[in-house]
Amino acid sequence: MTKFSRPTGTLDILPEEQPYWDYIIDYMTKVARGYGFQPISLPIFEDTQLFSRGVGEVTDIVEKEMYSFLDKGDNSITLRPEFTAGIVRAYIENGMQVEPKPVKLYSIGPAFRYERPQAGRFRQFHQFNAELIGSPSPLADLETMLMAWDIYNGLGFKDLAFQLNSTGCPKCRPGYVNVLVEYYREHIDEVCDNCKRRLAQNPLRVLDCKSDQCQPVIAAAPKIQEHLCAECATHFADLRGFLDDLGRPYTINHRLVRGLDYYTKTVFEVWAEGIGAQSAVCGGGRYDGLIELLGGAHTPAVGFATGLERVVMLLKAQEVAVPPIPAPPVFVVFLGKQMRSPAMQLLVQIRAADINGHIAMSGSLKSQLRQADKRGARFALILGEDEALRGEVILRDLKDGAQVSISQAALVDELSRRLS
Ligand SMILES: [Zn+2]
Ligand SMILES: [Zn+2]
Repeated sequence: MTKFSRPTGTLDILPEEQPYWDYIIDYMTKVARGYGFQPISLPIFEDTQLFSRGVGEVTDIVEKEMYSFLDKGDNSITLRPEFTAGIVRAYIENGMQVEPKPVKLYSIGPAFRYERPQAGRFRQFHQFNAELIGSPSPLADLETMLMAWDIYNGLGFKDLAFQLNSTGCPKCRPGYVNVLVEYYREHIDEVCDNCKRRLAQNPLRVLDCKSDQCQPVIAAAPKIQEHLCAECATHFADLRGFLDDLGRPYTINHRLVRGLDYYTKTVFEVWAEGIGAQSAVCGGGRYDGLIELLGGAHTPAVGFATGLERVVMLLKAQEVAVPPIPAPPVFVVFLGKQMRSPAMQLLVQIRAADINGHIAMSGSLKSQLRQADKRGARFALILGEDEALRGEVILRDLKDGAQVSISQAALVDELSRRLS
């Protein structure tokens, strides 16, 4: 018989892993709602065109990483590689522009990219994503950055700091790109083949080349800050001022760029102490041109996304204790087959009073009590024929083994008292 394995780059998140996921998702949800963000859930697949336009034709995601296929109706469908394009599509399609601005939305769920599998990187991964739509103010940038900060700080991450840059706007960026391309032409023999290619297609991306050979060229490259227009420069200065006033540490990172026209002004990452050196845990920025590009009215927006697999990995590495998922406190034990139905009726009765319980499916008294222990129950309810005839049940405290026979009518009150 063929044995099946999970597809490369995917993860089975088993029950023992779930406390981490519950903890992270609960916490992110709490912070997002506290900041006034509303949840939005969208299809995990969309029209392929949405992503090729909304993410950008000349990006790694669109060129190499999308899960795209023709469905049975010959429609080209893509599993979402990120959230923003879908959220913008929904914002436009559902007429959300009439809502009070900014519209603040968050989502949590899986996304898909055909990437080379490596530690902490998966082809199906999960993201928390937040978007603040409809404000050009640097306060909007600050608000999303603070929310990202609060999430990581509250999850127990240490040594948090922002990395920050401005990528300008369609007015000032082309001038900078020309200067950058000119500089790279003078150093073309010193850079890797990838950078030579990028220079023609998406020049800003040479700045995030990881190849050793390119590092000295990047370090000495002209910096975008010196080429921002007045509007972008003021926006950037205001945002830095707000961060200074709040005492949030940040580093200007000239290499932090997103080479597409609809990304504007602010780009940021949150860095935290991870496994070894400090590294990025989340990234975001402003995309004032995207909504227009996808068919809406010109609408400034800013957002960020964070991968949850990495957060789980880092929580474990930092040995952050997460609360376990509570086990049902009651375990119902029956003595003999004829007691199965009365035992189940007892369980139905306590469940109706919001007291959670398990029931054994079979087994001797000893084996059922062993199951109760293994499942982490606090109390066992033992029902034999004698008890049933008297309308009673044995309530056994599994911590100390003390047990009493009590009336079934008084059971819910007694359990509620003991569990409170
Ligand atoms: Zn500008
Ligand atoms: Zn390079």
